[in-house]
Amino acid sequence: MGVTRLEIDLNALKHNHTYLKSKLAKNVKMMAVVKAFGYGSDACEVALFLEELGVDYFAVAYANEGEVLRKAGIQAPILVLHPQPDNFHTIIEQCLEPSLYSPRVFKEFSAFAKAKQQQNYPVHLKFNTGLNRLGFWENDTEWILERLKETNAIKVASVFSHLAASEDAKEKTFTQNQITSFTKTAQILLKTLPYTPFLHQSNTSAIINYPEAQFDMVRTGIGLYGYGNTPEEDQNLRPVASLKSVISQIHKIEPGETVGYNRAYKASHYEKTATIPIGHADGISRAYGHGKGYITIHGKKAPIIGNVCMDMLMVNITDIDCKEGDDVIIFGEGVSAVDVSATIDSISYELLTAVSQRIKRVILR
Ligand SMILES: *Cc1c(COP(=O)(O)O)cnc(C)c1O
Repeated sequence: MGVTRLEIDLNALKHNHTYLKSKLAKNVKMMAVVKAFGYGSDACEVALFLEELGVDYFAVAYANEGEVLRKAGIQAPILVLHPQPDNFHTIIEQCLEPSLYSPRVFKEFSAFAKAKQQQNYPVHLKFNTGLNRLGFWENDTEWILERLKETNAIKVASVFSHLAASEDAKEKTFTQNQITSFTKTAQILLKTLPYTPFLHQSNTSAIINYPEAQFDMVRTGIGLYGYGNTPEEDQNLRPVASLKSVISQIHKIEPGETVGYNRAYKASHYEKTATIPIGHADGISRAYGHGKGYITIHGKKAPIIGNVCMDMLMVNITDIDCKEGDDVIIFGEGVSAVDVSATIDSISYELLTAVSQRIKRVILR
């Protein structure tokens, strides 16, 4: 198929789901994180497939992402990790479950739920245990418990926290402190509440590195999409998304000629270049080029040269046997998004989620 496209391999997704499930202790539930268009893939196709496989819960960052899933027919509960008061209307209308992460958001949501005549509306309490991004502090628990006594509009479905460095062996002590601190806070809540919310703290890397912290559920994102944050774990997973394109045109250039905007690349020999129809508007950052990053053509690395343009980029194919119309791969099966993104000191997460919505998604079943 001779156009730029993102292939989504549902068999790979199934493989990763099975692998991650095998790492979970008995009765631990799985929440699939499908924020940011399913890490750049296709949130609806991925979520519908995972729902069929029996995933218990979904998580998105923003309310509108949850609304899109509902409209696609997702029935499972959906946690909205980062709601704003302006989203509360959508949240209740679409049966989404908000993370309440601060006294302000807690107060505003419980008042809103009450005004909407809700009873026991499921909410999730997020605690900050060291990431210092979102979350209540440990000493907010008393305040929360008092407020919960005053209302039956909301009910705590779960209590959770997020780890700052679960992939980093050097931060083991810090991570263990986060786990201890979360356990302590959760215990206070469980002891006092007249019902039992479920607990969760682990992302993908924690599933693998901290099996003692699986609690009642894990929240996995990157692992489902095929990346495990270490070369060893990457071996056990399969990339779901493959970004592919095609050679539009080949040029033969002479020593001293330049390529692209600002004449940023200058040929030192007789060279061959290929133009590929993908650019910075498609998620291939201008940080690539001038020696950083490559496109893979017939298994060989063609360095990105000069400046990446909005809708295309040029690569050096002097030593590669290829022709116009040939397929190329940017990342995916056999070409790790970890390795490609590392050339600009980035991470797989950023490269995957940057793939623009104008690139066609092709679902492989
Ligand atoms: C994105 C996110 C996750 C998923 O993390 P992965 O490393 O992709 O598994 C889990 N929990 C929260 C709160 C997140 O924001």
